[in-house]
Amino acid sequence: MSIQNIGIVGAGTMGNGIAQTCLTHGLNVLLHDTSELLLERGLKSIEKRLDRLVAKEALTEADKRASLERISCTTKLQDFSDSDFVVEAVTESLEIKIPILAELNKICGADVVLASNTSSLSLTTLAASSGRPEKVIGMHFFNPVPLMRLVEIIRGLQTSEDTYQITHSLTTSLGKEPVIVKDSPGFVVNRMLVPMINEAAFILYEGLASADEIDSAMKLGANHPIGPLALADMIGIDVCLFVMEVLLREFGDSKFRPCPLLKQMVNAGYMGRKNGKGFFDYSK
Ligand code: NAD
Repeated sequence: MSIQNIGIVGAGTMGNGIAQTCLTHGLNVLLHDTSELLLERGLKSIEKRLDRLVAKEALTEADKRASLERISCTTKLQDFSDSDFVVEAVTESLEIKIPILAELNKICGADVVLASNTSSLSLTTLAASSGRPEKVIGMHFFNPVPLMRLVEIIRGLQTSEDTYQITHSLTTSLGKEPVIVKDSPGFVVNRMLVPMINEAAFILYEGLASADEIDSAMKLGANHPIGPLALADMIGIDVCLFVMEVLLREFGDSKFRPCPLLKQMVNAGYMGRKNGKGFFDYSK
């Protein structure tokens, strides 16, 4: 099955990143969000990043223009009736994702795969309420999408082999490296990465080392390109806390208890880079 027309629901950080990657790999993109303003914002982010690539001579002006000609935007899910494959990248909530998948099930052709970019919700649960459980799969891109090579492909209990093969082939055609994982909280990367960040927060909370020292230690001693606390600021302290809470709830294992400092920071509004203060200060 050849995929040419890809539908993306949600024009936020991940949705517009996925859209850009599809455009620069020759696909036609239909991008959906709840308002024209959000779509315009998503489109502007794509244009800005493509301009930067042109300035760095990583993309020609002609390829940039051709990419932008391949995208259209809509606030109506009905327009996905011509899509060959749909990725949802809307807000991380079952209450928001489930009705979208159920609606897409009514609109899209019977063969169309509905992929979710969820980072923590159960694919099996999403699939069960979609109306086409064997056609639902996780396609977990990483941020920033155009730069990060990994896509975790998550098979729900009901996902068919055919759905998996279609998704695998789309992933590689986008220049990404797929890693296949069964449905489980945190999948592969977040199950390891976020507890590491949580442990770094504990080391700081217990006063054992400063934020700078903790990050230097992991950069110098483990060859990590970025320290765990700077990484937490990039991901968002609220997102890290949310993932820890999901891991604790789903596994029921106290090794996943969130560090109290993460909770305090979220209560104080210190969310990381996105609002200027996290473990480090970005206000200047
Ligand atoms: P975001 O807040 O930047 O974007 C979400 C978008 O969904 C918003 O534009 C919002 O208007 C839209 N939306 C909400 N309800 C909608 C609806 N009913 N119909 C259409 N659009 C709707 O969030 P994000 O960071 O892009 O995250 C999106 C998804 O990707 C989440 O499931 C998240 O867990 C996952 N994810 C995020 C990251 C990350 O680092 N940000 C990484 C991997 C996966």
